[in-house]
Amino acid sequence: MKALSKLTAMPGLTMNQVEKPAIGHNDLLIKIKKTAICGTDIHIWKWDEWAQKTIPVPMHVGHEYVGTVVEIGSEVQGFKIGDRVSGEGHITCGHCRNCRAGRRHLCRNTVGVGVNRPGAFAEYLVLPAFNAFPIPDDISDDLAAIFDPFGNAVHTALSFNMVGEDVLITGAGPIGIMAVAIAKHVGARHVVITDVNEYRLDLARKMGATRAVNVLNEDLKDVMSDLKMTEGFDVGLEMSGNPQAFRSMLETMQHGGKVALLGIPPADTAIDWNQVIFKGLEIKGIYGREMFETWYKMVALIQSGLDITPIITHHFHVDEFEQGFEAMLSGQSGKVILSWE
Ligand code: NAD
Ligand code: ZN
Repeated sequence: MKALSKLTAMPGLTMNQVEKPAIGHNDLLIKIKKTAICGTDIHIWKWDEWAQKTIPVPMHVGHEYVGTVVEIGSEVQGFKIGDRVSGEGHITCGHCRNCRAGRRHLCRNTVGVGVNRPGAFAEYLVLPAFNAFPIPDDISDDLAAIFDPFGNAVHTALSFNMVGEDVLITGAGPIGIMAVAIAKHVGARHVVITDVNEYRLDLARKMGATRAVNVLNEDLKDVMSDLKMTEGFDVGLEMSGNPQAFRSMLETMQHGGKVALLGIPPADTAIDWNQVIFKGLEIKGIYGREMFETWYKMVALIQSGLDITPIITHHFHVDEFEQGFEAMLSGQSGKVILSWE
């Protein structure tokens, strides 16, 4: 079968032929319809330090997808041939304390599809049936293909009550922009997002941001006084991984505010801990999606009218994958979809 692989320890990915995978008793074989390119795939493409120490070579990658069930392991229940599915990309051990308590997103032995084991940028993917998530008919292939990052946004945004609250989101990457739409949908008052990229700030405006602030030429504190926010943000969602963005968030939080951290900062990032302590901030780290509460919420949010479709800005056939990666690398994109059909 065709697969998009890292064949040698070098930047880029190549399309090549690999063996079609065989399923185990508890697995599904999924024929891939559409995939999306994640920021993680960009790290893998660039072959940065993280990718070099994480990605086995050779291997095909990718973890944002939708496909159709074409083969079912002998022990699997609850799926039938032809079911349309996406899947949770974190494969958990099932026997650690958190897994046994149903807190799968806190498993200490998580293995990533397309990161630690072969991924979805291929004609077929083998996935434990436990990780597969059936997609209702009223949700498009395009949306189902981005459930993984949408789930990051939902998990983060729903971590704290936002009804009637003022929310700051730092980082208008695809996940930050989707978080804007979610925050507005669930009833936040002001949703302010920051970035340094005008293309993405524009997308965030289209998705309903009260203000999309380019921190290169506008001061967040001026925006707050425009909005007559005298005390600070109630909820902060850090979605840039940028240390300066995180520090500005801590400075503009209300006392007793709640902060969820999704963005991955450099390991040696320093902050002013006094902001955390004397303001009594609550800080929560976010990894992946809750299994499978986040997945149910994603479906329910869309079915209750949340529209995240503007985040999908580019479509290519997978044979044009280089153009897809170019679009992502340029920063002038939201989500990029690659069709395998
Ligand atoms: P992305 O890289 O596309 O978006 C990050 C955005 O932050 C970019 O648009 C960038 O311009 C912006 N930015 C840079 N400097 C800034 C500054 N000073 N102030 C404000 N914004 C600034 O990433 P994404 O795919 O949207 O993901 C968001 C973050 O979440 C990334 O750090 C990613 O690594 C991380 N992530 C974490 C998890 C998890 O499970 N914890 C999962 C997925 C992604
Ligand atoms: Zn576990």
